[in-house]
Order: sequence, then C-alpha cells, then structure tokens
Amino acid sequence: MAGAERPEVLAYLALGANLGDAQATLRAATVSIAALPATRLVAASSLYRTAPLESTGPDYLNAVMAVATRLNAPELLECLQQIENLAGRERPYRNAPRTLDLDLLLYGHASIDSPALQVPHPRMFERAFVLLPLAEIAPDQVRAEQLGAVAGQVIERLAGPWC
Ligand code: ADP
Ligand code: MG
Repeated sequence: MAGAERPEVLAYLALGANLGDAQATLRAATVSIAALPATRLVAASSLYRTAPLESTGPDYLNAVMAVATRLNAPELLECLQQIENLAGRERPYRNAPRTLDLDLLLYGHASIDSPALQVPHPRMFERAFVLLPLAEIAPDQVRAEQLGAVAGQVIERLAGPWC
C-alpha cells in the first residue's frame, strides 16, 4: 500500500543524548522528525536530565515525542536510525555514551517482536527517563504503579520550552 493511503498511526518516540551539545542535538532531531515523510509532530515533552543508567559519561538529556505517521514501524525505525547517524551516532559497545539515541516506544497498539524491532520497547517500563516524559504527554499510556516502580531513579525536569 502506498504511504499516503495508509491510516495515520500515533507513535511515541524516546530521544536521548549525552555527548556534545545534547540540547542542540535533541532540538535538531525534533526538527528532522517533524520533517519526516508522511509524519507530523503531535506533542513533545519537556526536557529531562538524568544520570546515566547502565551507561557512562555525562548526564543524559531525554524527552519523548508523539508523532502521527503513515510510515509503517520498520520504515519509521529506519528513518530514526538515519537521523541518529546524521548526528554522528557511533556504537562502539553496548550502552555506550551517545550523541543521539532515538527509540520507538509505541506504535499504535502494535506488538512487534522481530530481531531488529521490538514494540513496545522492551526496556521502556524500567526507565524513569522514558516513563516520566511519556506520562507528561500521554498520561493514559503510563500506570501509577509503573511510575512507582521507577520512583527511585533520579530525574530532573528542566523548565521551559526547548523545541
Ligand atoms: P539502545 O537504544 O538499546 O541503547 P541502540 O540504539 O544501539 O541501543 O539500538 C540497538 C538496536 O535495537 C537497533 O539496531 C534496533 O534494531 C534495535 N531495536 C529493537 N527495537 C527497537 C525499538 N523499539 N526502538 C529502537 N531500536 C530498536
Ligand atoms: Mg536506541
């Protein structure tokens, strides 16, 4: 089916960066995501600062975005990976510090389990830096007990619009 004929699907994306000018990188990534074909930006969370979790280096900046897209999930992931690569993303080892990490959290109600793509993102419910910004823009997607499970993680919500 051609892209324009598909129905729009609401997808949630996690953005993270902890190398270089992380805020500028996230802002540029937001512009790139909003410009993706057959995709429009629906909502963006505040920016959050977190200490690295299972990772190293400087603090992370994180945010979550909602997009309405006619891309299918593998196409959307491929676009996100292209944006990561444009930001100079390197993968020297697992959980290495990164200039930009873009994860597909949710794609409508889809449940996907292929080697290259798992949706819902398998680790999203372990991560305050995903759940708090997600709950900010989509409170219906996060249950109170899920927020409670990550309440011990230190996370700071930064004030003001950023994108
Ligand atoms: P991570 O984000 O887990 O730290 P990477 O960004 O390097 O690690 O991604 C590793 C691989 O995870 C990618 O090659 C991608 O194919 C795979 N992957 C599986 N499911 C997802 C998802 N929902 N969103 C993003 N990447 C995913
Ligand atoms: Mg990733």
